[in-house]
Amino acid sequence: GASLGAVSVFRDITERVRESVKRAGVARGLCQIMVLHSTCAVVVNETADPNIGRDVQDALGRAVPTPGDWLHDRIDDNAAAHIKASILGPSELVPVVDGALLLGTWQGIWLFEFDGPRTRRVAVHLLAG
Ligand code: ZN
Repeated sequence: GASLGAVSVFRDITERVRESVKRAGVARGLCQIMVLHSTCAVVVNETADPNIGRDVQDALGRAVPTPGDWLHDRIDDNAAAHIKASILGPSELVPVVDGALLLGTWQGIWLFEFDGPRTRRVAVHLLAG
């Protein structure tokens, strides 16, 4: 059966990524933000209103029922978390212009964890060019 202990959490990681970009000193290029865990996702969307993170969680909860008849639950009890993470994807690619992330006024970077809370690692890679 599905784990009742799994907690879906989300964090606005925009400022931490901005700091990484600043430290890297890349004037122009691409910034890839990738979470290194298979029940997590990275998404560019509006972060000014935290309810958007909640709404995304709720929508995925409706789309991916827990408990469901998922094969992975037979061995690891967190199939829904893997499916939600797969739908959103593990990474985003954001342009870097004039040494800063090119994001729209209302855009930020969300980290979603569907089988948490846990300590998670996000890799930020800068490609100059
Ligand atoms: Zn699993």
